Amino acid sequence: MQHDDNLKAKLPNFVTHLECAMTGERYEAGQIHNLSKAGKPLLVRYDLAGVKKALTKDMLAKRPPDLWRYRELLPVADPANIVSLGETMTPIVRMPKLAAKLGGGDILVKDEGRLPTGSFKARGLVMAVSMAKALGIKHMAMPTNGNAGAALAAYASHCGIKTTIFCPEDTPEVNVSEIELQGAAVYRVNGLIDDCGKIVGEGKAKVGWFDTSTLKEPYRIEGKKTMGLELAEQLGWQMPDVIFYPTGGGTGLIGMWKAFAELEEIGFIGSKRPRMVAVQAAGCAPMVKAFEDGVEHAPRWENAHTIASGIRVPQAFGDFLILRAVRESGGFAIAVEDAAITAALNEMAKEEGFLLCPEGAATYAAYKQSLADGRVKKTDQVVLFNCASGLKYPLPPSHRTIDRHKPIDFAAL
Ligand SMILES: *Cc1c(COP(=O)(O)O)cnc(C)c1O
Repeated sequence: MQHDDNLKAKLPNFVTHLECAMTGERYEAGQIHNLSKAGKPLLVRYDLAGVKKALTKDMLAKRPPDLWRYRELLPVADPANIVSLGETMTPIVRMPKLAAKLGGGDILVKDEGRLPTGSFKARGLVMAVSMAKALGIKHMAMPTNGNAGAALAAYASHCGIKTTIFCPEDTPEVNVSEIELQGAAVYRVNGLIDDCGKIVGEGKAKVGWFDTSTLKEPYRIEGKKTMGLELAEQLGWQMPDVIFYPTGGGTGLIGMWKAFAELEEIGFIGSKRPRMVAVQAAGCAPMVKAFEDGVEHAPRWENAHTIASGIRVPQAFGDFLILRAVRESGGFAIAVEDAAITAALNEMAKEEGFLLCPEGAATYAAYKQSLADGRVKKTDQVVLFNCASGLKYPLPPSHRTIDRHKPIDFAAL
């Protein structure tokens, strides 16, 4: 197999229609869509009986290791519209020392930092941009905490689509730079991500750009879905017991939940599901509050703050979908303090040589907290998502120096 076979092969496409996630109302595929008439996200539906006949586990196993190996379960029909920067399958890394120390089950880290632009936002945006290309969209806009904007800028520039991007003024410097370097017009806004989202919404009518906000277009979720497809395949089509997912807008959690349902329908997995755990920072935990209050919609979280900028989302548009998946799976939502995030990041880096991003570190902190309070069993196999490369974030300074012109006290090194 050539490395780019998945990008070139003529394969059947199984999209039947789109569907309002709230009312189930049907919408035609092959047209430009944002929200449903009810103002809710649209989900892509497939002829899964057709996929079941067309695709076997053996066929998949022979394909090159990138997310395009799941083409039958993806929306892009014509391979000419695939906009690729090399969306490699990401490894699952075991953390045996920490597992032994905690006396728990397997700790598996799915390392999404290996993807183009260094975060799992590449999965969603490669799909949104490929579909935008297919549908003839010329200008895309989005609010971002950094990583989504970087991925949008990269893919859109790669295929000649113009981008305008708005981020909170305290977005990590590296994110703002990479967005601009990768060809977007990026603006720092004195507000949070939902304030940026309002500007994108207002500009839609005035400028005519396409609103690429989380869950306000149907295809990012299809790209994020590949995390669930990949995870299942990599674990030999066996589900782990628990998945800890750092939850901002929640696309990944909703996407994986959709992936598992589709895999069951095509006969690749049974009815066992992992318990889905939505991890948030204590300084911005609207899903945790809504989960505990037993409600389906989460009010805006005021004065949101956390070092884990990717999950600083005061109000998630798909809140009801996140909460449904968490509840149906028998999972829960949990908040961790920034101090616990920093401690978790340091612990895994020092003891396992694995540098998490702060959001990924939040999942490890949440796992430890859940072991301690008994919500997760010591025998459970858990998957943590390291959603971005730890190298994209400011790192603590290192102070040791050597003066090579003076005698060196080697015994003290
Ligand atoms: C976007 C992002 C998240 C949150 O992902 P969602 O699927 O939108 O909830 C977590 N961590 C990082 C690093 C991110 O960029």
